[in-house]
Amino acid sequence: MHLEGTVLVGRDFEPVEGRVVVADGEIVRIEEASVESDAVILPAFVNAHTHIGDSIAKEAGEGLSLDELVAPPDGLKHRLLRDADHEEKVAAMARTLRYMEATGTGTFLEFREGGIEGVNALRDALAGEGVPFGERAIESVVFGRDDPDVLSVADGYGASGARDADFDAVRAATREAGKPFGIHAGERDADDVNAAMDLDPDFLVHMVHAEPIHLERLADRGTPVVVCPRSNLVTNVGVPPIRELNKRTTVALGTDNVMTDSPSMFREMEFAAKLSDLPAREILRMATVNGAAIAGLNRGVVEPGADADLLVLDGDSDNLAGARDLVRAVVRRAGQADVSRVVIGGEPVVPRGD
Ligand SMILES: [Zn+2]
Repeated sequence: MHLEGTVLVGRDFEPVEGRVVVADGEIVRIEEASVESDAVILPAFVNAHTHIGDSIAKEAGEGLSLDELVAPPDGLKHRLLRDADHEEKVAAMARTLRYMEATGTGTFLEFREGGIEGVNALRDALAGEGVPFGERAIESVVFGRDDPDVLSVADGYGASGARDADFDAVRAATREAGKPFGIHAGERDADDVNAAMDLDPDFLVHMVHAEPIHLERLADRGTPVVVCPRSNLVTNVGVPPIRELNKRTTVALGTDNVMTDSPSMFREMEFAAKLSDLPAREILRMATVNGAAIAGLNRGVVEPGADADLLVLDGDSDNLAGARDLVRAVVRRAGQADVSRVVIGGEPVVPRGD
């Protein structure tokens, strides 16, 4: 198959008029040509940090502090997750997966609570188990927790935070299994950052309270950071120093808990762009190729050999028509209503009539 329009090519998202040719789930080539299409073709998003299990509790817990909301074991989220049965959780996650596809996300890195059973619930949602609209195409990278044996089913380990437990043994087991280890750090304050970095994680999440010493350590080790600025605003912990982090290491964007924020990468990009005032290209990298790099995936970029995960926007929508800078318009302005197609693994996912 091929897609026609203005293609945002490579890591710099250089607009090129022409075609993207796809075969066997891969981008084969980009042909420069004059085409009759207002479509804008870019990589599908990689949402680098989610907790979609709390899709059962959207907008719960107004006015609660971060710890009251999400701290294990008895934060509101964990109580609600314990109280919900398997079918309810699977159905709620399946709705979220469909929404993420519809808003252009091809891949997500999920921190899943609840050990092996928690990971299996997400796999059931992806497989459409007991869900009226069936299997989803969106691809998951699942980080389990709460049980060292979770590594038998998860793609990696996602630790809640260095102050919650001693993670040395599970860190070693994760390395042994050849899987990635990620951990929340510096969300509420800076106290858990050094301990998290001492675990030599493959990536850190949040780093709202990164201090100069932490920034130096990040730069030395090249440890990537996933930032979730909307979530941090909602939980009232401040906002991450995106510019400072971006100067020193790979930064990716995540939407964090579905309980507090809709998992739309359009919304996260717009917020991160306007908060940091970084160039739009930097923000679009954070929403695509940087998250893919953290997960060790060859996607999030339109170039030959990359996985064919593509997002097609209608450049002639009422919202986008007349844009003088396409990348800036995509990052700071575009939304779900501008989506005309989503392709994951070379297969069209949106529209698909469900
Ligand atoms: Zn998180």
